[in-house]
Amino acid sequence: MADDLQNGADPGFGVYVHWPFCLSKCPYCDFNSHVRHEPVDEARFGSALIREIAHRAETTRGRRVASIFFGGGTPSLMSASTVARVIEAIDRHWTLAPGAEITLEANPTSVEATKFAGFRAAGVNRVSIGVQALNDADLKALGRTHSSVEALAALEIARKTFERFSFDLIYARAGQSVAQWRSELASALALARDHLSLYQLTIEPGTMFERMRDAGKLVVPGPDLGRDFWDATQEIMNGAGLPAYEISNHARPGAESRHNLIYWRTGDYAGVGPGAHGRITGQNKRRAQATERDPQKWLSAVESAGHGLIEDDVLSREEQGDEFLLMGLRLAEGIEPGRFEAMSGRGLDPRRVQSLIADGMVEYTSGGRLRVSAEGFPLLDAVVADLAA
Ligand code: SF4
Repeated sequence: MADDLQNGADPGFGVYVHWPFCLSKCPYCDFNSHVRHEPVDEARFGSALIREIAHRAETTRGRRVASIFFGGGTPSLMSASTVARVIEAIDRHWTLAPGAEITLEANPTSVEATKFAGFRAAGVNRVSIGVQALNDADLKALGRTHSSVEALAALEIARKTFERFSFDLIYARAGQSVAQWRSELASALALARDHLSLYQLTIEPGTMFERMRDAGKLVVPGPDLGRDFWDATQEIMNGAGLPAYEISNHARPGAESRHNLIYWRTGDYAGVGPGAHGRITGQNKRRAQATERDPQKWLSAVESAGHGLIEDDVLSREEQGDEFLLMGLRLAEGIEPGRFEAMSGRGLDPRRVQSLIADGMVEYTSGGRLRVSAEGFPLLDAVVADLAA
């Protein structure tokens, strides 16, 4: 990782590309993902992405792109040629920094894994694979369309194709014990290279899992057991040399996702595609942007107006400060209090900080950064709410 990223001085500028289509809807998912029973007009969507890239580049001239992230949805359903067109357009309308990180989220079905070489040739240099579980019963319960054998095969192809790859697992699943998770995580570490994303299952509003839980058909671990899962995860990952650099992301030092660090370090990024978000700073203003979520409406908007933006608002200093805390305190490195003051126009409340320190929830580093402690991380939302109040 570049030095400027390691010390947090300059998060860089990133471009997020959203591909909103999936083969099926996972019951825990609240992302902007859509299942189509007719073939997607990929050429048309690809051209619209490129048009929206041109629009966003107009308003962010001269930026160098440190990172591109293809997220979704399932961007591994795109063809390599569309991915190549998009990367080429980003390089043409901005400039890709030498060694820019280009990540593509992939699902490990056998069809998608066979496309990895094409993605590599298109310029992708990192894949993030949605494995989620390493046994078939749990994959089925999570509504995944791949098998554990396919997941292992996809990881093997990723290992051979990319210098950098990561995969996601969901833990604290219905019926899972901490002992089972420990064993699964040990297996995952044997398959990982230097980065893993480990998400504790949460029941999001509007999802199938929420309806199942409310109907008494899904029982997930309560807070105490959830804490045991959390503690086991940190112990194993610290022991393996892949500590959490963010609440759910673990890496060997230097292997962190540079793109996500841009978000968490309150850097700037342009978002293109349906339901993409962006943050752009210029002329002493920070703008929050969001595009139309519905793929067809987004497509029509881009084809008629050149962009799908439905929000483009200047953030108040208070909003900037809140966002800075919300994102920065997710990171193990914590935040620089002076930057909070510069953004929000006010300092952190010393009494609140002292009270949280006394409770063991936050701590100052020797360099004067404020970070959430190991004890505080499982209660992150409450810590952030307290500091932001
Ligand atoms: S594949 Fe990913 S984006 Fe698509 S429905 Fe499942 S979790 Fe959501």
